[in-house]
Amino acid sequence: MPSLSVQAPTCTDIQRMTAAIIAGQELSASEARALLEIQANSDAYQSLMQAAQTVRDHFLGKTVHFCSILNAKAGNCSENCSYCSQASNSSNVDYTKNKWLDHEDIRQAAASAANNGAKALGLVAAWKGVKKGAQLDMICDSIRELVAEGNIRPDINLGILEDQEVADRLRDAGAAVYGHNLETARSFFEQTCDTHSFDERWRTIQYIKKSGMGLCSGGIIGMGESKDQRIEFAEQLRFIEPQMIPINFLNPLPGTDFAEREPVNPDEALITLATLRLFLPERNIMVAGGKEVTFGDRLAEVFDAGVNAVMVGNYLTTLGTEPEFWHQQVASRGLQLAAAAGSGCGKGCSDPS
Ligand code: SF4
Repeated sequence: MPSLSVQAPTCTDIQRMTAAIIAGQELSASEARALLEIQANSDAYQSLMQAAQTVRDHFLGKTVHFCSILNAKAGNCSENCSYCSQASNSSNVDYTKNKWLDHEDIRQAAASAANNGAKALGLVAAWKGVKKGAQLDMICDSIRELVAEGNIRPDINLGILEDQEVADRLRDAGAAVYGHNLETARSFFEQTCDTHSFDERWRTIQYIKKSGMGLCSGGIIGMGESKDQRIEFAEQLRFIEPQMIPINFLNPLPGTDFAEREPVNPDEALITLATLRLFLPERNIMVAGGKEVTFGDRLAEVFDAGVNAVMVGNYLTTLGTEPEFWHQQVASRGLQLAAAAGSGCGKGCSDPS
């Protein structure tokens, strides 16, 4: 249902919200929805960005987390996620397909990610979900080997989990964090994929949480969801309490169902990030896939919007910004790179890029 007229808050309103959040009150969904009405180049925009930094610094300090991902099994996915070049209905061929990588390739990727400052490497697989049997055994072996080498924390992103036993076995192998995105609001999900359901994703998240692994879960902004649905998505994130929330922005790749959609305007993207910061003040929020396409030469402004984590290195099927750029930005803004692996990182296999 379309929203009734929603008024953008004033600077005074935003200052009042900020004080309330710092005092321990939750921003309401209607307050968050109103923030999405703020216009770029307004005083309220400046107040929102200031509020996002104040809230981030208060709850999370000035520490920034870097995470990296590896497409450990790429291409030929059975699923039809409309934003994904690896989907069954995508004609995009601009990336290399591979079966689950052998350990030497994974070890080299881990060394490279650690060298770039990443504390965690998310092993991502393009399939509906990991299967019990030889496949699960092989992945547990990869996790154990990375844990034994000790260079980087291996996170995993293996899609839908069949049951609790699979989650528990992955935890026992040494996986500290499982990445599994909600992707978007429940009410919009069916417009992005119909080979699996939002409920299957939701159930997988319950298995992850019950296993004791950390949860990395976010989604994609700009697939055609309404502003109301962005707040619905934020409410779902508040409910599942991920340690890390990767926020991707649609990169409309050729050959995908969403190829003709427009990337999100950078001001709108920054307002969305800042609103998420105020709505989820204690959560790590990471800017991930699609950021280069969305922000262009304004990429560093993501820190103005209160993010405290960045996906560094390349994405699943496209190239990312050089890690050196992020190191320079962190230093020049008085932020610090996390000295140890955060409590949650990784990446949804839903990376739109
Ligand atoms: S997002 Fe993941 S599950 Fe969906 S098509 Fe791409 S690789 Fe497959």
